[in-house]
Amino acid sequence: MVEHHVHDHRFILILIGDSGVGKTNLLLQFSRNQFNLESKPNNCVEIDVVNINVDDKIIRAQILDAPGEERYRELVGTYYRCTIGALIVYDITRKVTFENVERWLKELRDRRDQNIVIMLVGNKADQINLRSVQREDALSFSERVNINLFMETSALDKSSVNNAFTKLLAHIYKHVV
Ligand code: GDP
Repeated sequence: MVEHHVHDHRFILILIGDSGVGKTNLLLQFSRNQFNLESKPNNCVEIDVVNINVDDKIIRAQILDAPGEERYRELVGTYYRCTIGALIVYDITRKVTFENVERWLKELRDRRDQNIVIMLVGNKADQINLRSVQREDALSFSERVNINLFMETSALDKSSVNNAFTKLLAHIYKHVV
């Protein structure tokens, strides 16, 4: 099939974070309006493409969904050099996934210069009764470590999902291009 280059910009993003935090479902919601209750962990880097409009320009986002398990860290790391933006995802109901954000951040920054735009995403925000990471703590952490953007999302009820991806892409368009 012939590829039609109708977009104005092409940005590659990567979703990283511990296994089970909801990376695959965030992408599934954003690209196809779907949610999967029984999604299995990835064993390779998967990709989906979404076109969005920012300031009358068409941005083609190629979004990589990386496996979160420890044994794939090396594989995932090799993709960092071709990405312009990263979403580091944790699960607001599992504190350990938030504590591990620092490690994901370090691995990303060890391989990339400061040019990469990073959004911290606290997913599963629908599970308010099980919350174990406070919004304010995540926000102050983001500021302390110079993460550009922070959002809480729910891939289940879809809240803030489109907003998160769109905000990140708009930020890249405005500040990096
Ligand atoms: P990944 O390993 O980070 O890609 O996580 P998945 O997208 O595979 O999700 C792991 C599990 O969490 C699955 O059972 C999903 O159905 C569930 N899940 C993902 N996002 C949400 C969410 O926003 N809210 C709730 N309640 N469950 C979610």
